[in-house]
Amino acid sequence: MNIKDLPVSGKKVLVRVDFNVPLNKEGKITDDTRIKAALPTISYLLKKDAAVILMSHLGRPKGQFNTDLSLRPCAIHLEELLGQKVEFAKDCIGRSAEKKVEALKPGEVLLLENLRFHEAEENPEKDPSFAKKLASFGDFYVNDAFGTAHRAHSSTATIAKYFPNLAAPGFLLEKEISFLGKHFEKPEHPFYAIIGGAKVSSKLGVLNSLLSKVDALFIGGGMAYTFFKAQGISIGDSLCEEELIPKAKDFLQEAEEKKIPVFLPIDLVIADAFSNDAHHKTIEVNQGIKMGWQGMDIGPATRTQWSNTLENAKMVFWNGPLGVFEFSTFAAGTNAIAETLSNLNAVTIIGGGDSVSAINNLGIADKFSHISTGGGASLEYIEYGHLPGIDALQA
Ligand code: AMP
Repeated sequence: MNIKDLPVSGKKVLVRVDFNVPLNKEGKITDDTRIKAALPTISYLLKKDAAVILMSHLGRPKGQFNTDLSLRPCAIHLEELLGQKVEFAKDCIGRSAEKKVEALKPGEVLLLENLRFHEAEENPEKDPSFAKKLASFGDFYVNDAFGTAHRAHSSTATIAKYFPNLAAPGFLLEKEISFLGKHFEKPEHPFYAIIGGAKVSSKLGVLNSLLSKVDALFIGGGMAYTFFKAQGISIGDSLCEEELIPKAKDFLQEAEEKKIPVFLPIDLVIADAFSNDAHHKTIEVNQGIKMGWQGMDIGPATRTQWSNTLENAKMVFWNGPLGVFEFSTFAAGTNAIAETLSNLNAVTIIGGGDSVSAINNLGIADKFSHISTGGGASLEYIEYGHLPGIDALQA
């Protein structure tokens, strides 16, 4: 089913969007990429004279009302982007939401309050009536929340069963899936993947699945230190997931058996504290890191080696910063690789999350083939080839 197949004119359309945007301490949206990414679907439905009811989560309120995680700033921001009034319901279900939904006319927009203020959003089995209540608001259901499509939640999966032949993906979801699907089914070679970020635990699955697709893997960021430790290199106070050392060893061995080169950093910028102003220096990895010091970024020799190797790529997938890029002192590695990728004559795919912030900070977003709005979702799509949010629409 395609959104264009739904006869939405004059009807109420319930749209799951991903407005999980970063907010600063004053509650101001610091990056509206995700809101802007939902505009094609919202504008299309309005043009078709539908009454548009938007629902989303924001942050992790864990089933409790939390004014710091209200979606109201998103309603105000969306109003500016659309140039029309956006109604706001101070709860996503209950009388306040029902009244707003009843009053909503074709061509109007309503945003419901944060779905995750209710425990049943993330745990549909706790209260099956939650999805049913949400479903009662719409004649049709559209899922455009790619960033949450890897979660089988009430508003992303359970709800779809109330809309047999009345549900469709939005334009963003469709765009993400068709791009990732096309390029991961038949990657162009040489295909390289660069995986960084803090934790091996969240990325081991995708690393393993990438082994059967890529021509080489590059591992940076905090997760590299678990691999160093697995190789017997001292890592001082660097990030490490001790319990994953055996799995890191197995992974390196499997890569060797499959003859897939795994590039780990050859030099590092280390610091004597986790701070932008910490004392820091560059060392070669084989020197090891002494206690009292921790790895914060890939070093200049690594940047050069990786950039040179990436030069002949026909396709690159990148997820996760290569250092603590939030601190300007330790952002050079992430920025250098971002610049290298932006100048490649290749399909360049950024798999969501912090890599997107790095690229936006550098103002080079338009130089990439695809910037995904979902970090976790794109990783899971690559790992499993399908996502619960999309499966639910097809059931
Ligand atoms: P993730 O969400 O797993 O992609 O992790 C992103 C986070 O990893 C960012 O906040 C980075 O600051 C952090 N990170 C990257 N490199 C390191 C490092 N060497 N030590 C600690 N944290 C790191």
